[in-house]
Amino acid sequence: MSDNTVILGSGMAAWGAFDRLTSEGVSPKLFDKNSYPGGHTASFPNDKGFVFDDGPHISFTEIEEMQTILADAVDGDYETLNARVDNWYQGVWVKHPAIAYLHALPEELIVQILDEFIQVSAQEMPETATFDNYHQWLLAAYGPTFANNFPGRYGTKYHTCGPEEMNVSWLGPRLYRPDLKEVLMGAVRPPRTEKHYIDKFRYPKKGGFEGYLHKFFAAADLQLDHRAEAIDPDAKTITFGNGKTETYDTLISSAPLAEMIRMLPNVPDDVQEAASLLSCSQSVIVNVGVARDDLSPAHWRYIYDEDMRSVRLSFPHMFSPTTCPPGHGAVQVEVYYSDKYKPLDHKPEDDIKPVIEELTTMGVLREDDDIVFSEARFIEYANVIFDLDSGPSAAKVQDYLSSLDITYCGRYGDWAYIWTDESYLSGQRAAQRTLDARTSV
Ligand SMILES: Cc1cc2nc3c(=O)[nH]c(=O)nc-3n(C[C@H](O)[C@H](O)[C@H](O)COP(=O)(O)OP(=O)(O)OC[C@H]3O[C@@H](n4cnc5c(N)ncnc54)[C@H](O)[C@@H]3O)c2cc1C
Repeated sequence: MSDNTVILGSGMAAWGAFDRLTSEGVSPKLFDKNSYPGGHTASFPNDKGFVFDDGPHISFTEIEEMQTILADAVDGDYETLNARVDNWYQGVWVKHPAIAYLHALPEELIVQILDEFIQVSAQEMPETATFDNYHQWLLAAYGPTFANNFPGRYGTKYHTCGPEEMNVSWLGPRLYRPDLKEVLMGAVRPPRTEKHYIDKFRYPKKGGFEGYLHKFFAAADLQLDHRAEAIDPDAKTITFGNGKTETYDTLISSAPLAEMIRMLPNVPDDVQEAASLLSCSQSVIVNVGVARDDLSPAHWRYIYDEDMRSVRLSFPHMFSPTTCPPGHGAVQVEVYYSDKYKPLDHKPEDDIKPVIEELTTMGVLREDDDIVFSEARFIEYANVIFDLDSGPSAAKVQDYLSSLDITYCGRYGDWAYIWTDESYLSGQRAAQRTLDARTSV
């Protein structure tokens, strides 16, 4: 087919679209604003011998089609690991999910949580959609003490706004709610099993998470350093920040919805207003490389304490040893901000020192550790914030883009709390929509 198809982006969604189109004989052109390919799934080797992903990434997809696509992408050369996860709560490490492993907590807190959990368990949990906000859901699911001290507190750090400011549309299977017997068992004896909603995960043996994309990079007509800045949907042209212009017959975008609106001329006020209500968190990722690899028994750890800026710790050398020099370990720490709720008021680098101090307080690092590498990376778009204000705004913006024959996809096009697998499939579906539109003309 000779149709001139352009894809904005080179992350998972773009590759899903690329895959679907090329399998139908369409050869799209890809443009990315970054100087490197891969979007959030890029990995960065450094001169000290470490490989850090853009933010920590593992593949925990249960979708067989995706497992096969990713396995083939690395010729079967991936690690399969049993997830070990825990939580830092006021001086103790508690296995994850904490509700099923209360044993490590102070006795009075355990009794209070159990007392309330017994009460809420006696009532049937209403359908998720019936709750006005996430806080109400948490109270009904766990009782106030656990809700406010654990998921409520963590969520506020991760999403940058409180649970009472969030809707419940994003919840899905993310929060584990065990039955009463399981909670009681976890309170009276130390943990014996793992119960995270992620059980096993995969990670490429070489190249960091980006290893999954190397074959795609090699197969595509991809131009980097091309930030789309203006789109003329009548003339079907895109103007890039580097001064170049590209024409298209078909446009698929994985760029954030609000950015797409800023690129378009004569956008109606109500659509602009809807775009302005879409909030996303930003992340500072602090990467630390250490001359020691016994940093943690868990692959990743959630940090609940409000006086610590660290939100989640991940340990890349435990995903694949090739991410570090021999005998070395690494920790990636996520810290979250957002323009709307918690603006970043300092340079990302200013998070490095306090984060290292926190790692030392938690016993992950030792005072005498040889820290051979540290850096801070800024992620402009991290997690979509499902706050009460956002309501149907995304749908309004998406409808407008569709009316201009612009096909959106991915985490920031679908405006959804989706992972790499669903982003790839979103790209595939977007490509299918454009293929269907051709055949229906
Ligand atoms: C900190 C963090 C940790 C995560 N961990 C995991 C994990 O462990 N496992 C998992 O499965 N998922 C994880 N995710 C989610 C995962 O990263 C996303 O679901 C997925 O990568 C999104 O892919 P995408 O292609 O939709 O978006 P992106 O990867 O963001 O790709 C969008 C692309 O569009 C480009 N672009 C944007 N604007 C323009 C423009 N104007 N012009 C040209 N190009 C443009 C960007 O540069 C980017 O390359 C994590 C996300 C974050 C933030």
